Amino acid sequence: MPGSSRMPVSLRDGLTNMKNSRAGSSLRLLNIELLKNIIFFYFLLRWTRRFFWKLKGRGLIGTIVELYIDARRTAYGWFLQAPGVRSKVKAQVADATAKLQTKLIKSGERRFLSLPKQGWSDEDLRAELDRLANMDHTRWEDGFVSGAVYHGEDSLLKLQTEAYGKFTVANPIHPDVFPGVRKMEAEVVAMVLSLFHAPSHGAGVTTSGGTESILMACLSARQKAYVERGITEPEMILPDTAHTAFRKACQYFKIKMQLVPCPAPLYQVDTRRVARLINANTVLIVGSAPNFPHGIMDDISALSKIALRRKIPLHVDCCLGSFLMPFLDKAGFEVPPFDFRLRGVTSISCDTHKYGFAPKGNSVALYRTAELRAYQYFVVADWAGGVYAAPGFAGSRPGALIAGCWTSLMSVGEEGYLNACVQIVGTAKKIADRIRESPVLSTELEVMGNPLVSVVAFTAQNLNIYDIADEMTHRGWHLNSLQDPPAMHVAVTMPIVKVWEKLTDDLEAVIETEREKERVRVVEGHGAKGRAMGDSAALYGVAGSLPNKGVVVDLARGFLDTLYKA
Ligand SMILES: *Cc1c(COP(=O)(O)O)cnc(C)c1O
Repeated sequence: MPGSSRMPVSLRDGLTNMKNSRAGSSLRLLNIELLKNIIFFYFLLRWTRRFFWKLKGRGLIGTIVELYIDARRTAYGWFLQAPGVRSKVKAQVADATAKLQTKLIKSGERRFLSLPKQGWSDEDLRAELDRLANMDHTRWEDGFVSGAVYHGEDSLLKLQTEAYGKFTVANPIHPDVFPGVRKMEAEVVAMVLSLFHAPSHGAGVTTSGGTESILMACLSARQKAYVERGITEPEMILPDTAHTAFRKACQYFKIKMQLVPCPAPLYQVDTRRVARLINANTVLIVGSAPNFPHGIMDDISALSKIALRRKIPLHVDCCLGSFLMPFLDKAGFEVPPFDFRLRGVTSISCDTHKYGFAPKGNSVALYRTAELRAYQYFVVADWAGGVYAAPGFAGSRPGALIAGCWTSLMSVGEEGYLNACVQIVGTAKKIADRIRESPVLSTELEVMGNPLVSVVAFTAQNLNIYDIADEMTHRGWHLNSLQDPPAMHVAVTMPIVKVWEKLTDDLEAVIETEREKERVRVVEGHGAKGRAMGDSAALYGVAGSLPNKGVVVDLARGFLDTLYKA
């Protein structure tokens, strides 16, 4: 055997012996058994740990309730898929989508579905643009729209348009070609950092809006946990009233979402539950200042203490609060601490395109340190196209928007924002007071919690709040319907400051009409059946009460499809 002759005799004999002997095979068996056991215990440990976290975070009853709700949702999902039911649901969704289309898409319009053979003349284009801008719409100009347009005064709009015009071609991806844009962007970040009392080593970026600012802060927290603590199954704890952008971040970045209830009467996040939900996988805690649905500020001080003690980053969502929050104190309104002066706060999102009055497409993400900001950077060193570095999602970006933002901040200035804060928050307080004090409103509506900023949310006691919302829509208002619990809100903006009395007068009138309708229904014994239902009532009252919101999801997808119908 030439091949094996070179092997030392002793080793060869040893191997042969082992191969043949019982001892050898049982040793191998033993190894496999051991490996099996290790793997088994590893998974057992993992699942036990998870189960323990769940019990600790949600409590025994909470865990059971959650299981029950999940089971009900799944069962109802199966029911919706059942042969006879499925086709019916499909037909109804199609019907509702078709109705939506007729509402959103004007018939009899000229439609352009391919390029014009020859480009239009400037005059024709101007005329067409005018027509498009003046299409029949809800009158934000007269203060009939909640949120949406935050300033809208002609002088500022003109200035912003001029700023756009000077930087139409600018792209901050080329800082050497457009040095002015780079300078303005850095200054916007610096001004907002200073407003929120960032420490000297604070840092930030501009983004395309609140959603992107939030996505960036969540990404940074996830990357930090991965790099520094090896976390591969990240979890994030957020109030269930926090903006949906956080849920988007969970979906996009594969972060497990831990929602925490915000119970009445304060509607602030339950901070004891937040503390209980923290585990080894937690990468971020979230608080809103204030939140979108109810305009309520969470107890950021308490969250900051928890964050510091457990060494977890804390994001404060000031997207809506934007340039109102930093001025509340000077304007003479009550405001608990919410910014970087609380040492546990590690990042803040602030929408310059909301109460910063900048054109849409502007927001800022702020970080306590430059290291935190670096976790959102995207850098590739070995691309054929050269070394590539981008601060966030976008590659090329509109420099014109940055110019518009910088111009707005410089034009309004500290005094302007302070004045706007006095007017807007003052108006929100007047609306809340009127609801609490007027004989008609106070007997029907209830203001949710203690709103400190610009949003006033309210529930109805006897009437259906969605009927009230639909009637307000008939009167030309565009307010927001909320769910869980059923409610509606108004986000006060500069245009609304001028018409808040009409708003509350209309609310009174609507409530009186609805009460009368209700009385007639009771007298005639129709019950709920004999009523015509508005859009809000149908969407939130009927579809929203189902245990599985699959139908609502289908409707919403239909709505999105409609937006792209040319
Ligand atoms: C508006 C808003 C956001 C972000 O919204 P964008 O529409 O993406 O700008 C985030 N949080 C709150 C509380 C908001 O009101």
